[in-house]
Amino acid sequence: MAQIVKGQTGDWEIVIGMEVHAQITTKSKLFSGSSTEFGAAPNSQVSLVDAAMPGMLPVLNEYCVEQAVRTGLGINSEINLYSVFERKNYFYPDLPQGYQISQFLHPIVGKGAIEIDMPDGSVKTIGVTRLHLEQDAGKSVHDQHPTKSYVDLNRSGCALMEIVSEPDIRGADEAVAYLAKLRMILQYLGTCNGNMEEGSMRADVNVSMRKPGDPLGTRCEIKNVNSLKAVQMAVDYESRRQVEVLEAGGSIKQETRLWDPSKGETRSMRSKEEAHDYRYFPDPDLLPLELKNEWVLKIKETLPELPDQKKHRFMSEFGLSSYDAGVLIAERSRADFYELVAKGRDAKLAANWTLNELLALLNKDQKPISESPVSAENLGLLIARISDSTISGKIAKDVFAEMYATGNNPDSIIETKGLKQVTDSGAIEKIVDEVIAENPDNVAAYKGGKDKLFGFFVGQVLKKSQGKANPDMVNELLKKKLN
Ligand code: ADP
Ligand code: MG
Repeated sequence: MAQIVKGQTGDWEIVIGMEVHAQITTKSKLFSGSSTEFGAAPNSQVSLVDAAMPGMLPVLNEYCVEQAVRTGLGINSEINLYSVFERKNYFYPDLPQGYQISQFLHPIVGKGAIEIDMPDGSVKTIGVTRLHLEQDAGKSVHDQHPTKSYVDLNRSGCALMEIVSEPDIRGADEAVAYLAKLRMILQYLGTCNGNMEEGSMRADVNVSMRKPGDPLGTRCEIKNVNSLKAVQMAVDYESRRQVEVLEAGGSIKQETRLWDPSKGETRSMRSKEEAHDYRYFPDPDLLPLELKNEWVLKIKETLPELPDQKKHRFMSEFGLSSYDAGVLIAERSRADFYELVAKGRDAKLAANWTLNELLALLNKDQKPISESPVSAENLGLLIARISDSTISGKIAKDVFAEMYATGNNPDSIIETKGLKQVTDSGAIEKIVDEVIAENPDNVAAYKGGKDKLFGFFVGQVLKKSQGKANPDMVNELLKKKLN
């Protein structure tokens, strides 16, 4: 469902296309052997190539190419066996080469598609225009000295994939869903860690408005949007701003705008008229990149199960709802954890415990599943103890709380705390008799027709057994004695 902005002249439709820069997960840079590790001391990971010393020659990192191909396959895109690196010329203090090596006319990956999942359960396909490889620039640092700016070239030459979407996105929710899905796919593939806070993934959001059915309007490109929440807020702000301009009789100038998270607004950075002419031309230091189809097919064979496939398998193999499956596959580590819990156990029970108990606590403590004090093996064991009636579901909650607090295994907790369910009919019968003897009035009332009191007796017996009596046996014995 397209998001509509209500104006004074009627409804307006939001049109969005996104350009996402994703830093490739790789140990070394796109054209040099320098390390790409995040957080190193400034300028400690800069080779002569990255510093653009005269006469240095770039050498293409094969692994980065492999990662781009893997990504292209993961987003259902055409892989171009022939692609070309070009120089994109511009001046910036943190770009010592004076140009960025990028791809322009011949990108490594062509058209594709990404399915996005909307909160109402519907699925929509967003077209991918292209994915190309390029180098990142360095970083200017303005907050380390009162009057000077510094340049840190650690990031200079790091490998980026730029993934460009078609203008198929129709609102803030879809934009968020697109970015979240793309990030999930990259994380599953292991081609980008998707960490938006560290800037490993950055989105440029192009927004235009139109009356439903009209041709596309003029767009503005919002740069520097670095979280899902910021995408939501930037689109909401920008769409309203454009409607106000248009309804006041003005027109939208194509321009680049900056999202300011502290003010919650976008503002003009540069207009298209002053935009750079990059003078792209094929980099004479690099031959066109020609890939062998067999090599691409080999990479295809090593693709992991992707989020959509995993979700559908969880639904068919484990009988989970679309919602539960969606939450479990949202992170690959979470899905792997769940599969370990469910292995050889009641899969639905395993899903309930993983989602409603474990993830609920982890969320509260703001911990990722990798830091869960309860291991998948131990949670699986707990499920097994419920299924084989060693403990009741109610006692299991206490055992689980103890597991979460101590990291201990459920069997030792059940053992040392004496929580084993009582299935000895003699012992249960004794308690049943006691409860009947202690409550003559209720017994009389029950026999007189107050059927609802049965629950009272069950509760009393369970309470007396400290929750350990097997509920089925309690029911059976009470029925026998009371009827
Ligand atoms: P540029 O390189 O100038 O940014 P592109 O053709 O690469 O131009 O387009 C960039 C992005 O803008 C793409 O994601 C595309 O889908 C999106 N886009 C193009 N036209 C519109 C429009 N009218 N409204 C919203 N987004 C658009
Ligand atoms: Mg652009």
